Amino acid sequence: MTPDETILNVDDEETPRYIKRRDLEANGFHVIDAATGAEALRLIEHVEPAVVLLDVQLPDISGYDVCRYTKSKWPEVMVLMTSATFTTSESRTQGLDAGADSYLVQPAEPLELAAAVNALLRIRRAEDILRSLNVTLDAQVKERTTELARAINALKSSAERMRTLLSTSYIFQGYMAPDGTLLDANRASLEGIQAQIGDVVGRPFWETPWFTATPGMPEAIREAVERAAAGETVQQSIVVNLPDGERAFDMSLRPVKNDKGKVIGIVPEAVETTQRLKAEAALRQSMKMEAIGQLTGGLAHDFNNLLTAVIGNLDFIRTRSVEDKVRKWAENAFKAAERGSKLTSQLLAFSRTQKLDTGAVDVNAIIGGMRELLDQSLGPGVIVTFELAPGLPPAVGDANQLELAVLNLALNARDAMPDGGALTVKTALSSDAKSLLVSVADTGAGMSPEVVARAFDPFFTTKPTGKGTGLGLSQVYGVVRQAGGEVTIDSKIGRGTKVTLCLPLAVHGIVKERRHDAAVTRSVKSEKLLLVDDDDDVRDIVCRVLAELGYDVREAAGGSEALAALSDFNPDLLLVDFAMPNMNGAEVVTAARARNADLKILFLSGHAESAALEAAVGGAPLLRKPFRPAELATAVRSALDS
Ligand code: ADP
Ligand code: MG
Repeated sequence: MTPDETILNVDDEETPRYIKRRDLEANGFHVIDAATGAEALRLIEHVEPAVVLLDVQLPDISGYDVCRYTKSKWPEVMVLMTSATFTTSESRTQGLDAGADSYLVQPAEPLELAAAVNALLRIRRAEDILRSLNVTLDAQVKERTTELARAINALKSSAERMRTLLSTSYIFQGYMAPDGTLLDANRASLEGIQAQIGDVVGRPFWETPWFTATPGMPEAIREAVERAAAGETVQQSIVVNLPDGERAFDMSLRPVKNDKGKVIGIVPEAVETTQRLKAEAALRQSMKMEAIGQLTGGLAHDFNNLLTAVIGNLDFIRTRSVEDKVRKWAENAFKAAERGSKLTSQLLAFSRTQKLDTGAVDVNAIIGGMRELLDQSLGPGVIVTFELAPGLPPAVGDANQLELAVLNLALNARDAMPDGGALTVKTALSSDAKSLLVSVADTGAGMSPEVVARAFDPFFTTKPTGKGTGLGLSQVYGVVRQAGGEVTIDSKIGRGTKVTLCLPLAVHGIVKERRHDAAVTRSVKSEKLLLVDDDDDVRDIVCRVLAELGYDVREAAGGSEALAALSDFNPDLLLVDFAMPNMNGAEVVTAARARNADLKILFLSGHAESAALEAAVGGAPLLRKPFRPAELATAVRSALDS
């Protein structure tokens, strides 16, 4: 017995109470007494006895009620009912019903009473242990439940994070079983094929719309999946047809293995490379064009000096010869030389070393004015349609070169439609309203991707010798690039071709072209001109033309010679070539102006880096080589009169 195991002995009759107390104390129990129900309840509350020995018959409250109340308030207190009078089985039942743990008829043997109390104490101890076990069990369950809930929450939010990562990624991602059955696909990948998850899940990966619209692709993917299923990480660059066009990807198939190394799934991933590949191709193309441009530009420069001399001299023969036959020959040669000059100007336009007259142009007016020309050049088999968007703002461009570009495109279209067809020339504002689009479309033979890739190259032609120069599209390219625009070819074999020029809108309005009257222009006061050019032939013809016109001309083959001549000659106008060895035209001008600030200048040039020339020339007039004598005369006159 432990010290807190007190026995409360409740009986209103003193003698039996005493006997019970004595018997219990003799067996080592600690006993306190109560004579009424009320006293019993008070003691139970304050002493918390282990066992209450409860007589049924009490003067104030019935023993049953005391028992019931005790059991409801302190269930751990054991109640042993005793009675000398209520000994029937009903009264015993009634006692047990009220919650008593046992019932003992009085008077009982002292040993019997002690045994009964001991039995109750054992039960109580066992119950105590059970109760405390229960409490800790409860606590443990609670703890485990919270832990579990926490783990589940963590799992949930981690899964959610993974979902978010997957669904916001630009990379196409998915998951499939080792046999290729698709189990999941992220949002980017579904948007790529404009499909819902339900459309693809459960299907073999290679039979999904990512691949089915591209010939040969399903077979290739199936083979790749098989390799991944065998444990290999497969990486491939692919180009596929998706709803919004052809797109390129770096694709990988990664096997997922369990801890035994068995493949339990495959992760397909694809990173889009369309833009990068396009940018790389564009860069390669522009580098190539730049290189070819420098080459052709240099060539054209020499050519222009040559042509200046040829044209000038032929003009002399043509105008001075008294013999008709000679005049005719000279005329023919002159025409041929002019064609040569057109060719070099096309080359220069392409190489971008010839600064074109880019200003604001009314594209509709230019193209509208070409109707007759196009009808004539295309012949009756081709139906020409114009679709010109009304009210277009002016665009950046060179009117003459733009006209030539459209003509070049139309001639290509004609060549592509030997049996006739339709040609559509269209103008429109771009969707972002920042540029103007000019497109020329035909229903002809079309081009292979290889031809498209090289079409802008100068001298690239697929036409028989004598028919094609390979300079048409180069000219188109040069004009558009100089205007700061772009040109694209959309063509398929057998499906026709559409070439689209995209020209930036002009910030300033259209400037009316100012044409100098070619009617000459002689020198009346025999003004003094100093000509600086390193090319002997050019110098020779220019001097001759100007002397004929009555000017007093002095020539210099280079910068230092010119500066030396300045001191004693004192010219009204300095005609100076731009590209010269040792000292270029701009340097000569700077030095000359240091001596005579009012000196008038006319630049001559057959070739020059546009930017360098522009910067050097400033406001000074510029005459392009090759020029005809009449053009030279006009330019000199207007430079002097400015
Ligand atoms: P050319 O016309 O002298 O051959 P271009 O530079 O104008 O030179 O064109 C280059 C090549 O591009 C042509 O030889 C032809 O193969 C192809 N090409 C250009 N335009 C078209 C078109 N409208 N249809 C089909 N092929 C074209
Ligand atoms: Mg052509």
